[in-house]
Amino acid sequence: MKILLIQPPPRRIEYEGIIVPPLGLAYLAAALRGDGHDVQILDAFALRLDWDTFEARVAGATAELIGVTGMTPIVDTSLRALEIARPYCKYLVFGGAHVSAVGQKVFQQTPELDFAMYGECEAAFPQLVRALENHEDPSNLPGVITREKMNKPCELLPDLDELPFPARDLLPNELYRYALSRRERVTTMFTSRGCPYNCVFCDKSTFGSKWRARSAENILAEVEEIAGRYDTRSIIIYDDLFTVDKKRVKEFCEGVVRRGLKIDWKCEGRVNIIDGEMLALMKRAGCSMIAYGVESANQHGLDYLNKGATPDQAREAFAATRKAGIRTMGYFILGIPVETYEDARKTINFALELKADYAQFSILSPFPNTPMYEDAVKKGWYREVDAQNPMDKDLKRPVMLNENWDEEKLRNILREAHRRFYLRPGRLLREVFSLRSPSQLKSKLSAGLRLLKWSHE
Ligand code: SF4
Repeated sequence: MKILLIQPPPRRIEYEGIIVPPLGLAYLAAALRGDGHDVQILDAFALRLDWDTFEARVAGATAELIGVTGMTPIVDTSLRALEIARPYCKYLVFGGAHVSAVGQKVFQQTPELDFAMYGECEAAFPQLVRALENHEDPSNLPGVITREKMNKPCELLPDLDELPFPARDLLPNELYRYALSRRERVTTMFTSRGCPYNCVFCDKSTFGSKWRARSAENILAEVEEIAGRYDTRSIIIYDDLFTVDKKRVKEFCEGVVRRGLKIDWKCEGRVNIIDGEMLALMKRAGCSMIAYGVESANQHGLDYLNKGATPDQAREAFAATRKAGIRTMGYFILGIPVETYEDARKTINFALELKADYAQFSILSPFPNTPMYEDAVKKGWYREVDAQNPMDKDLKRPVMLNENWDEEKLRNILREAHRRFYLRPGRLLREVFSLRSPSQLKSKLSAGLRLLKWSHE
């Protein structure tokens, strides 16, 4: 079958400091191609397509089946892409994190749809296509949702080493970039899926709670392909928990050194499962940045989030990472309902105390299908901003309010955090001296100007 997989266009065509491959689509494409189908991917986000050009590209693809992916915070772009794609295909399928989170409700959001798919789909999507080709009824297949029913989820893949590598040859690889990366060309990869922790804000509806990992050998083979075939040496490892199995991290890092792979990479760490020995090895293997979900400086805030970590563990992890010569990024959450404005200020101070190289401050926003969403709805804290899009379209209007947090307080604390963290003279100078290329200058300048404008609005 002729199949087109779509990453929708951006809401606004403006310069983005980070554009990464739609890895989920590339995995699906590889699985479908393995079944003999003719697959294309249209990454309309990376290509910065406007909606008219997007429609022309969809029409020109002459696909029998079109699949569109979408995440909740930008689901309005997926809904528009589906509407545009409808006349140009026989079968229209919606998948991705948003469908996994909201299930059958997607049929209320988009009447154009034939099928939706949820969960881990590399095995289930080819089954759906096979059924359609054979004129069989696919509505009982696992992972498939129809207007009438939602089937049981597909089984999680027991051995991730069996997956073919993502079909990066179908992607515009030269367009992927990350402002904080040391090199121009960037890609992402998954070395494991799933997470056994239970942070209340986390949506785990796609990969589940069981941690499943690829072997170091299998990961190294993909890294070699990325560096060799795609001439890309900067990799963002997208795993929720890359550092959980020390033996595997060690094997991977030793393999990178042994094979002489000149790469730099970033991963996500967890402050309670990191140590100096592992960090030293990671640094030798090219790890240039670790991002930690610190979330809050306040133990009662961390307990509410069910984070399973303490501020002292964050202190130790940041100090050890700095000592190993690896840059740090901290994720911090403001507007936690059990915290006050002063508590949130402590979190901003904490970001400074940790000497994080970069910090990402976010207002707490509950995703559908998370424990926090249920709790917020039950307590009357959740405010639906847009029926077509459970998160606010511009992520500027908060969706969770209570006696501690009104809209103005949330806006103020977010501005204060960015101002105090990023607009320090010493920090700005450091950024200038760390510039390595004209495109980094462009990325950082555009991010800086946007921040300056927004923080003084
Ligand atoms: S936030 Fe991270 S550690 Fe917590 S449950 Fe989600 S993936 Fe796991």
